[in-house]
Amino acid sequence: MIRVRYAPSPTGEIHVGNARTALFNYLFARHNKGTFILRLDDTDKKRSTDQAIRSMVEDITWFGIDWDEGYLKGGDYGPYSQSERMDLYNHYTDILLKEGSAYELHYTDEEIKNIKEQYEKSMKTFSYRKVKELEGEARVREFKEKGLTPAVVFKVLEDKEIVVDDIVRGDVHFNSNEFKDFVIRRSNGIPVYNYATVIDDALMNITHVIRAEEHLSNTPKQILIFDALKFPHPYFAHISLIFAPDRTKLSKRHGATSIGDFRRMGFLPEAMFNFLALLGWSPKDGREFFTKEELIELFTLESVNKAPAIFDISKLKWMNHKYIVELGKEILCTLAMPYLKEAYPDIKCDEKTLLLVDTLRGNMNVLPDIVKLSEPFLTGLGFPEGEEEKNILFDKDSIKVFKYILENIENIEFKEQKINEFLDGLKEKLGLSGKKIYHPLRVALFGSKSGPELWKIFILLGKEEVVQRIKFVLEQIKKTSN
Ligand code: GLU
Repeated sequence: MIRVRYAPSPTGEIHVGNARTALFNYLFARHNKGTFILRLDDTDKKRSTDQAIRSMVEDITWFGIDWDEGYLKGGDYGPYSQSERMDLYNHYTDILLKEGSAYELHYTDEEIKNIKEQYEKSMKTFSYRKVKELEGEARVREFKEKGLTPAVVFKVLEDKEIVVDDIVRGDVHFNSNEFKDFVIRRSNGIPVYNYATVIDDALMNITHVIRAEEHLSNTPKQILIFDALKFPHPYFAHISLIFAPDRTKLSKRHGATSIGDFRRMGFLPEAMFNFLALLGWSPKDGREFFTKEELIELFTLESVNKAPAIFDISKLKWMNHKYIVELGKEILCTLAMPYLKEAYPDIKCDEKTLLLVDTLRGNMNVLPDIVKLSEPFLTGLGFPEGEEEKNILFDKDSIKVFKYILENIENIEFKEQKINEFLDGLKEKLGLSGKKIYHPLRVALFGSKSGPELWKIFILLGKEEVVQRIKFVLEQIKKTSN
């Protein structure tokens, strides 16, 4: 039975890199009918606030990931928060101490920090082993008398070949001489990540550890602990880093980076899900659009790429646009409503708003785009200020179009087909190209030469408003020309 886990340190909003880790674990579990576990790496009690945990859960739920076991769900391997597992960690620390795979160091964190600084100043290489050798019995006694807890240091075996057999990267070789002894429990009693994670992965029977590449260098240390405690290793899969288009690691300076950021910007969870699945994984046929079910069916760790993935926000916007276009109009209206309400508190998803949203969706990349796009319909339109728009309106052919419309609009039935027939007929009647007709009309009625199809603009405004707007434009042109 496959068992995988997502183990966030809930100290802030979920970075897209972590969301992608959660997603790959989720897809792998679902594809293999395995169990997906949510575990909290919350040993940093100061930063792992309830608020951070709540927002993390809210964000991954919004994103479309559910889990079978773990935090909030329970299961046979709990507790699922590291802060509640201290007894377990201590139990295995005692074993390591008893077997000589670890030793106690009777110095406080503060003292160790000072010793490290001294070593640095005198250009000597620091190691816990050296400090241990100099510790002396008097210090141990004194430390105990004061009731202080010693730190626990893991003893790294010498010259041991460690191979991380990574599903994504193949065999990655390390030698234990690259590492020095390392602390597994600080003098405040709190275990470090590299240690706690091994105990958890082992006791929770995790079969595959799928996590970000930045943890690859931790893995040999973790393997040494697995071995020291005679726990079998899980399989490992380290997924590539996420870069911004400038090929540096995606970070705050590139703008939005957390799931919460993208959620607030008005991206749809389905688009995010699809987009993040393609960051580092690609199907053989190069397809780009997938439902969650399709991704579950196709996802394998063997097709995860080694190369860094590039987070291209313009691609995400394009993808989001495609999802917006496909949404049912009632759903889209409901999703757009909070943004619309900010500008128009009384607005509701009635027939007119549904038509509005349906009309404008083709020009939306993210949900809040609806606000600006609907302005020409909901707050009216002044005379355009842009040079290009003015030039279009002042063209003598445009004036011909406006006059013709005013003379004939009475006879046009305001239905898609009838409006389109009428507009098509104009080309022949006035001997003008489509562009010469559509651009001025869009500018006069909508404020910009590009935008929704004209027949939709006509219907949304209604006959009376179309007449008003064209008359207004003609009057302005006349005034300016006099
Ligand atoms: N809490 C660690 C992180 O968020 C977990 C790493 C792991 O999956 O082992 O990076």
